[in-house]
Amino acid sequence: MAVIPVAIAGAPYEVRIEAGLLARAGEHCRPFLRKNRVAIVTDENVAAEWQAPVTASFDAVGIASDWLILPPGESTKGWEQLARVVDWLLALEVERKDNIVALGGGVIGDLTGFAASMVKRGCGFIQIPTTLLAQVDSSVGGKTAINTPAGKNLVGAFHQPSLVLADPLALDTLPLRDTRAGYAEVVKYGLIDDAPFFEWCEANGAKLLAGDSAARETAIAKSVAAKARIVAADEKETAGIRALLNLGHTFGHALEAETGFSDRLLHGEGVALGMVLAARFSARQGLMSGQDAGRIVAHMEAVGLPSSLKALGLDCSGRRLSDHMLHDKKMDAGTLPFLLLRGIGETFLAKDVDLNEVAAFLDEEL
Ligand code: NAD
Ligand code: ZN
Repeated sequence: MAVIPVAIAGAPYEVRIEAGLLARAGEHCRPFLRKNRVAIVTDENVAAEWQAPVTASFDAVGIASDWLILPPGESTKGWEQLARVVDWLLALEVERKDNIVALGGGVIGDLTGFAASMVKRGCGFIQIPTTLLAQVDSSVGGKTAINTPAGKNLVGAFHQPSLVLADPLALDTLPLRDTRAGYAEVVKYGLIDDAPFFEWCEANGAKLLAGDSAARETAIAKSVAAKARIVAADEKETAGIRALLNLGHTFGHALEAETGFSDRLLHGEGVALGMVLAARFSARQGLMSGQDAGRIVAHMEAVGLPSSLKALGLDCSGRRLSDHMLHDKKMDAGTLPFLLLRGIGETFLAKDVDLNEVAAFLDEEL
């Protein structure tokens, strides 16, 4: 088992990674529970595959589980289901020192974590992420949120979990397209500041996607360690370090916005293409070699992630995409911070990027 400590001020916790953890969830959670009952929030897809083994694992250690099973999908991350989770937890008389369990992808983790942050002014919670994206990204770092009509993730809280359990076997029931989209965030950690890890991805990415459990465990452990390191240095995104985690996300969000945040482009697919665009733009600006940018494109292609804007077939201008970027919540006092690369594993925050140049570049790529 890989154990990655996350050292956040005042609230350190462990991320445990091992094949078979879901079937042993009860045993791992038990020391964090004060009563012989546990509240578990999940969605219908996850419950269909994993409710029985997880329930059995709690039964085996003498803990009865209460389940709230929500509809799947991004629209669950809103006011309506938030109120439902909070009221359900209050009806169960959850106390501040209790730990509730979020079992699912980023939607369930973000929603349940936010609910936990407000019940009794903040009760504990345990993340059991079941998508690759949630295992390598959303379950670690303490950002929780819901979406509102004004935009995605605009209402939320920083609320750290007490424990994270990541089981690579959970991905056996996840559609390949979702696993692949989560894999884009794995590649991201290599591109940010770890060239040897990018090389590891080049050698092992296809194996990971084909179901190799050891490759999955390594990728999750490496990713979590990278995120933990970056978050510990800048928990509340004030020092410009945590911003590195947004590599590929400015371009990516613009593409997600243009495709209406729909199934046409999953978040991770947008990030993959966003990293390709960040690399190609960096090469065009003379910051990075064309050869390094080419390696990034080639790896996305090799694992079946989007690697060309043309292939997406958008019917819009570069200006329209750059306008979406202006609406990005990460815009800081009128300037658009942009994550660019000097090479593989050498991401940096460029503060003075001219949006006209970005728009002209995108026109060439479209
Ligand atoms: P998701 O939670 O919607 O899960 C994707 C789909 O897979 C859903 O249909 C779900 O029901 C299903 N599913 C999950 N696990 C499964 C399993 N093991 N077997 C079968 N089906 C399974 O999506 P996601 O990609 O995990 O997360 C996306 C969300 O994460 C977004 O809302 C995003 O804003 C958020 N996010 C948060 C952070 C953060 O730091 N808090 C970071 C990145 C993303
Ligand atoms: Zn992301």
